[in-house]
Amino acid sequence: MMLDPQADPGRRAWLPCRYCSDNTPLYLLASDVNMVWVQCGACLRRWWHDTGVGHGRRPDHLFDVA
Ligand SMILES: [Zn+2]
Repeated sequence: MMLDPQADPGRRAWLPCRYCSDNTPLYLLASDVNMVWVQCGACLRRWWHDTGVGHGRRPDHLFDVA
């Protein structure tokens, strides 16, 4: 797994990684409504993160593609 070519150091989110819990910035790769497609800068895993904005949906469709 490599850093996604869409990873932009100028678009990062300071959220805890759900896998390695490292306090590293997550790269924002894409977004859709209240979901953001992020990649951890440490373990390089990617997943959809529910920002909780908008509908209050549960993040039950988060998935890992690593
Ligand atoms: Zn990580």
